[in-house]
Amino acid sequence: MGGCSKRAVAKGVKSNLLLILMIIAMAVGIGMGWGLRFVEPKLTKRDIFYLRFPGDILLQMLKMLILPLIVSSLVSAMASLDLQESGRIGLRAIVYYITTTLFAVIMGIILVLSIKPGDHGDKDSITRSGKSKVVNTADALLDLIRVSFPDNLIEACFQKKITDQIPIEKPEPTTMDPENLTAITMYTYNITNETEEVSEEPQQYEPKVVTKPGMNVLGLVVFSLFFGCIISRMKEKGRILAEFFEALNDATMQLITLVIWYSPIGVLFLIAAKMVEMDDPEVVFTQLGLYCVTVIVGLIIHGYIVLPIIYFIATRKNPYRFIYGMVQAIVTALATASSSATLPVTMNCLEHNNNVDLRVAKFIAPIGATINMDGTALYEAVASIFIAQINGIALSIGQVITVSVTATAAAIGAAGVPQAGLVTMVIVLTAVGLPTEDVTVILAVDWFLDRCRTSVNVLGDALGAGIVYGLSRKELAKMDANKTKENGHTEKKHAITSVNIANGDVTVNGIHNASYLGDESTNL
Ligand code: ASP
Repeated sequence: MGGCSKRAVAKGVKSNLLLILMIIAMAVGIGMGWGLRFVEPKLTKRDIFYLRFPGDILLQMLKMLILPLIVSSLVSAMASLDLQESGRIGLRAIVYYITTTLFAVIMGIILVLSIKPGDHGDKDSITRSGKSKVVNTADALLDLIRVSFPDNLIEACFQKKITDQIPIEKPEPTTMDPENLTAITMYTYNITNETEEVSEEPQQYEPKVVTKPGMNVLGLVVFSLFFGCIISRMKEKGRILAEFFEALNDATMQLITLVIWYSPIGVLFLIAAKMVEMDDPEVVFTQLGLYCVTVIVGLIIHGYIVLPIIYFIATRKNPYRFIYGMVQAIVTALATASSSATLPVTMNCLEHNNNVDLRVAKFIAPIGATINMDGTALYEAVASIFIAQINGIALSIGQVITVSVTATAAAIGAAGVPQAGLVTMVIVLTAVGLPTEDVTVILAVDWFLDRCRTSVNVLGDALGAGIVYGLSRKELAKMDANKTKENGHTEKKHAITSVNIANGDVTVNGIHNASYLGDESTNL
């Protein structure tokens, strides 16, 4: 009893110690980075490169764990869940993902239409950085299906195939020497040259499937889900595979625990380096301040009011206690700007701090990190309407609905990596006919908003796992009962066998046992 409470206290101190270290790391990172901005001579790119080094190592360690974690979690979870029950649990998760993403988009639209951040600024006074990308909405949506079924699993671990838009080259105008032309051809030559100058034809593009670097997480998720399902259906025959992935998952989770103890150091240096290299915040935030405020207010309302209310309604438990258990993951998301890289920490918090049933956490968290991005959806809706506002374009109701649908799809399609939302936002802009090159207007603040939205993405995934767990207790208990019954059955069988052995009168199905018994029976 005493030992037990001591262990509980030690466990409490241990988890709080990490939490405290994380918060200190974040504060020191901000302070140190801010202070280094004023050091003379100014830090060079090389200095910042070295300052980031401990953070880069954290990022690499987390990314290294993504592949074994996603595959082993999903396969072992699917293999351990009863197919019918996992279908029901999965359905709950899908309903949660779609409704909360739509809520986030609607919240973003309401805020941006009422605050009107784009009506207060002058588009041309805003600094632009970078280049925009050409996308085709239909191709981008089809890519969601294309990446779900990679043609090579090994390749899917480090690159993916997506559709790119290749400019169609215009045929070179034939060069004619005016001196050798007859009167009629001379006339045609002049006309052609004049028309060419007057009407500049828009550039045409053709689709081409190209390979882009980066793990195809969605493809791996889809494969692992189906693979796990099949293992579950194979019952006894598939048990060896189920146990292999179970063990792989346990080993990966133990590695994660080690990495998590290094995370405060990594977080400190990632944040410090970002603070040093960011553009002058005064200039950027006076130009885009209201836009940032709109996104941040939306993220706070969605992540810390709307989602907790849904959690409370579904589970009747205190959502803020649950959020407190996720602080480590939230800070990691702020530092890494990647929900995929944060996934190991998210899983660890769900299991150790919030005691979510492992079968649900392993099933729901990796899918959530890949497709559930409420923060990104909210941001995409706000950003695209902001771009319409700075261009003085009033969107019709139909266009606003198009924004909500495409922002939801774009958020699902965005990978859990830094600034992926900015890339998929071009889909939303193209769908409503807004100028895609204006993405460059918001680029200056995107690194900051990216971190904020990633933390809400991670929070949404975690609360989703908590909600699905709360709603699925009955199914889980039923599965436990079935398992106990099965085990009892097996134990009984073993007991009968041993009795029969003792009597020297045996009929056994197992090959190993049969040969053993064969020898024994001759002896008997
Ligand atoms: N960085 C975000 C994430 O990993 C995606 C985005 O750019 O919105 O969740």
